[in-house]
Amino acid sequence: MREVTLVGGGLSGALLALMLARRGVKVTVYERRADVRAEQIEEGRSINLALSVRGIHALNRVGLDAEVLARAIPMRGRYIHPVTGSCSLIPYGRTADEVIHSVGRRGLNVQLLDALAREKNATVHFQHRCTNYNLRTQTLTIRDEAAGREVGVEAPVVIGTDGAASAVRLALMQSTRMNYSQEYLDHGYKELTIPPAPDGTFRLEPNALHIWPRGGYMMIALPNLDRSFTCTLFLPHRGEPGFDQFPMPEAVTSFFTRTFPDAVPLIADLPGEFFRNPTGGLVTVRCSPWYSEGRVLLLGDAAHAIVPFFGQGMNCAFEDCEVLADLFDEHGGNWDEVFPRFFASRKPNTDAIAQLALDNFIEMRDTSADPHFALKRQLEHK
Ligand code: FAD
Repeated sequence: MREVTLVGGGLSGALLALMLARRGVKVTVYERRADVRAEQIEEGRSINLALSVRGIHALNRVGLDAEVLARAIPMRGRYIHPVTGSCSLIPYGRTADEVIHSVGRRGLNVQLLDALAREKNATVHFQHRCTNYNLRTQTLTIRDEAAGREVGVEAPVVIGTDGAASAVRLALMQSTRMNYSQEYLDHGYKELTIPPAPDGTFRLEPNALHIWPRGGYMMIALPNLDRSFTCTLFLPHRGEPGFDQFPMPEAVTSFFTRTFPDAVPLIADLPGEFFRNPTGGLVTVRCSPWYSEGRVLLLGDAAHAIVPFFGQGMNCAFEDCEVLADLFDEHGGNWDEVFPRFFASRKPNTDAIAQLALDNFIEMRDTSADPHFALKRQLEHK
């Protein structure tokens, strides 16, 4: 029986494990975090993601598309909130069924892990962090976080699905001639919450991705199943305005009152959440190649982390899983054939999406605020 070790049991790790286990591969997954299914996090407090056709197609390959879409909220277009004046919806497509879907990250991860738990070929070790991979001895160093000890694990074939700060990628960089670059945006992000109205309804139009475009910065909001919205504020780390310009709660409230006036009465705990919630960084990771012979491969954000403005990071990672599974079938599971072909087929596409994601930040924060642009888009869709 073929065996593979996956480092990272997040979105791409869980889906890939499922696909490979169903192909008769013995899959062992090491995941740094505790099992999300055991954690008591309220739905709606974790971040949500836009799921689109690329991701749905991959989920369909494991029969999970309907189950995931049943817990998703369709978004028909961008709902633009100007500083003054009325809001407008710019549809994504010409017909009502051309939508993207808001899904909860945690709920999706739970659905994937539940499906994986039903596969007899797959084992997931939670709270097991990979700290190194020795390519020469083909040994992973795994830290059991609960027991507080480190062990060496023999792993002749490793796939790094461990996200943007991949430990597997670092090990590969240190022992192969891998090219690598990471590019941070000057902007970071912070999440804020619009809770449901007292009568349990949504406080904004639920079937839309809300945008407050303000030129050099913006805020967006996606709906959650519990009828709340998760807002994400994208602002420069430094400058005017910038995350470093808010010494006091009053400064936050005054900035929001000036720039996002209609959102102020909706965000229940504005200064509190602003100071409590972390500010995240936004990075594009490019590297090549993503593999070493038929022994190690990077997939998902570990290979190509992108900024979130095109809503395609997860979708693209899911597409990676689908392409890898197809290549596995075509080449009878011969990793020496599969890994280079996977890299050759995915690299140009993921480079293109990385650039589109950077470009779309400009469009979202600037152009969609331009009334002429909004009108043009509406006429295109008439
Ligand atoms: P991850 O989801 O990061 O999973 C990696 C897993 O590996 C995690 O479970 C982690 O705990 C584990 N891990 C990490 N290191 C180790 C280690 N050393 N040992 C063991 N385990 C480890 N994408 C979309 O498609 N649509 C969106 O709308 C969207 N919005 C986004 C908004 C924001 C603010 C951000 C930051 C990203 C967004 N993305 C979106 C991108 C999306 O989140 C990622 O592309 C996606 O999560 C990548 O999946 P992954 O499995 O490759 O990595």
